[in-house]
Amino acid sequence: MFISTGSSDTSVKSFKILLVAPKGKKDSKSNQKPLFHMALGVLVSITPPKHEIDIIDEHFGDTVDYDADYDLVGITARTIDATRAYEIADNFRKKGKTVILGGIHTSFNPDEASQHADTIVCGEAENMWGTILNDLEHHRLKPYYNAKDFPPVKEIVPLDYKRIAKASLREKVDTTKSIPIYITRGCPYNCSFCVTPNFTGKLYRRQKPEDLKAQIEDAKEAFFKKNGTSSKPWFMLCDENLGINKKRLWQALDMIKECNIMFSVFLSMNFLEDEETVKKLVDAGCFMALVGIESIKQSNLEAYNKSHVNTPEKIIEIIDQCRKAGLNVQGNFLINPSLDNYDDMNDLVDFISRNNIFMPIMQIITPYPGTSMYKEYKEKGLITDEDWEKYNAINVVIRSPHYNSVEFQYRFMQTYYKAYSWKNIINRITHNPHPLMGFVTSFAFRKNLHELLETFESEHGLKRSNKLNLY
Ligand code: SF4
Repeated sequence: MFISTGSSDTSVKSFKILLVAPKGKKDSKSNQKPLFHMALGVLVSITPPKHEIDIIDEHFGDTVDYDADYDLVGITARTIDATRAYEIADNFRKKGKTVILGGIHTSFNPDEASQHADTIVCGEAENMWGTILNDLEHHRLKPYYNAKDFPPVKEIVPLDYKRIAKASLREKVDTTKSIPIYITRGCPYNCSFCVTPNFTGKLYRRQKPEDLKAQIEDAKEAFFKKNGTSSKPWFMLCDENLGINKKRLWQALDMIKECNIMFSVFLSMNFLEDEETVKKLVDAGCFMALVGIESIKQSNLEAYNKSHVNTPEKIIEIIDQCRKAGLNVQGNFLINPSLDNYDDMNDLVDFISRNNIFMPIMQIITPYPGTSMYKEYKEKGLITDEDWEKYNAINVVIRSPHYNSVEFQYRFMQTYYKAYSWKNIINRITHNPHPLMGFVTSFAFRKNLHELLETFESEHGLKRSNKLNLY
């Protein structure tokens, strides 16, 4: 499908297009990364078939060939990958290639990005892409396109998995790697640390359930390789917040149930309070919901515009209910150098350990450009570092009233590692559904955290005697 409400596709020329997902030097090594970057998957799916597309994704070790023959190079950039995106863009421009930069970071830093590209694209691409390709053909490519100057994206397109598979270098995968898919886009909430309200926005859109089923079948054919341990592929539902409309969520789950897959999903805790929703999720094949619990301090939740969520006691009640139904709830937690002290970190890790939270993710809060937090912290002079490579949620980039940034980061990494002590891992896998998966993923987290900690200690000359008892 090709959507081009900005201009009709009257072009006859076909282009060779390269789409790049760069990997920042300090981007994480997580093996939970889905098989392709969703923004690139959407672009592939809306590009007229006459154009030839290659995808390079550095998260999977693809290498960029600057001498290859492309008419257009499109690079997407999240904040953590921005510096690398600029490096790739500069190299291609030196070779005389036409480069377009888009994605979340570019959308909120167009002046910065424009120094590295011929064209900057801000916002959701669906309704601009046709115009851009048309302008390219007629040698009138503009330096700047903004989704605000085009009709709003009211419908989201199905992904063309066969074409994405052909464009990318990904081999078929077994059940240990996830295939991305999305049903909805947008979120009506306004959490201050999240870029969604200002990028995809509050307009909540969804695909037709019938499109969903066809995509899942295509995706299986294109990307899934059965092995002995499981016949079901793992899909990652990349929706920002899938549960906003319960009736539609249930419709989608009924459809997914027929597809014989397993999947993980991002959801607000509020939606898991509903036992019937949890039952439907599990029946449809959902084994894990990633939930932003963020903080166990009410004052922090209020500072983040997230006070609509439940109290810690209620959260534990909901998690227990999900466990009984066979659903793992993975918790995401934020540590804020300007709001939290070491006692708060200890309280949090105690909470995580005591309640056996499944595969907890801890992050140092990072005010990403495009969030209302970035604006607020910038105005208050709280941002201390705008080296985008450090915007990976384990570095300190905002001021702490109590600690220097190295101390704070070191303490954070120790606390995070402690959440993955052997004792905590064993307790966790014995209390949550899917114990084998819990063990394998916890082991990988622990190993990765240990490496990060050792690297940090060696970079900052921290001595063994300073270390806490972490095991
Ligand atoms: S964090 Fe989740 S609930 Fe909050 S605005 Fe972002 S997508 Fe919506």
